[in-house]
Amino acid sequence: MPELDVHLFTCRSDNYGVLLHDRDTNKTLSIDAPEANAVRSALRDRGWSLDYILTTHHHTDHVEGNEPLKAETGCQIIGPSGEAERIPGIDTALDEGEVFEFGSRQVQVISTPGHTIAPSTYWLAQDNLLFAGDTLFSMGCGRLFEGTAEMMWNSLEKLMALPPDTQIYCGHEYTLSNGEFALSVEPGNAELVKRVEEVRALRRERKPTLPAGLGLELATNPFLRPMSPEIRRNLDMQDAENWEVFGAIRRLKDQS
Ligand code: ZN
Ligand code: FE
Repeated sequence: MPELDVHLFTCRSDNYGVLLHDRDTNKTLSIDAPEANAVRSALRDRGWSLDYILTTHHHTDHVEGNEPLKAETGCQIIGPSGEAERIPGIDTALDEGEVFEFGSRQVQVISTPGHTIAPSTYWLAQDNLLFAGDTLFSMGCGRLFEGTAEMMWNSLEKLMALPPDTQIYCGHEYTLSNGEFALSVEPGNAELVKRVEEVRALRRERKPTLPAGLGLELATNPFLRPMSPEIRRNLDMQDAENWEVFGAIRRLKDQS
């Protein structure tokens, strides 16, 4: 595979923007467009011109830059078909299992309902990269604004089945508060304790905690761990289904 440059930058208060640049074809893609100005200056810093915006879901903090950036650059906007009418400037709507050709590589669409009704998570298998929007956060997951706990759990299970060396980029820097919540439900998880220490050190220096490896998420993210005996014991849900335990963790987090 030819080189792919990945540029992560902060937007708004706690959103992340990501630019992908395929050196072979000189094409540039923005994962979401949280804010036109931040995307514009990231492009200028790198000397890249925008060809595509790949939208994860319809929330304003992920699409606000779509129309101004499209007007300036003529970029194409691609997003999930189930939310197409709510995504400003969309040109191409894609469904689960469809593929978007970005330069010489393929971006696979995984439909992950839960946070909203039909968000897409984008997987670049050749590069081991996953762009999860607000579906999966490091040590956390998105709130259930439009979907149910069972829908979200099914979505997360699809992501859990990807290769453990997959590097995950998420829509927000929520890792430290997620980690503190995670410790409240699974304090005996030694890997979690260690990861939270690392995250505290990164955040003290205002460094990003992303990308996060899927293997480490499987070991530390309570929303991917409803099968954990310790979590089940703490929630007094020894015999419940995984999605029910997941739902209970989500409700606890909403109240925290
Ligand atoms: Zn959102
Ligand atoms: Fe968001």
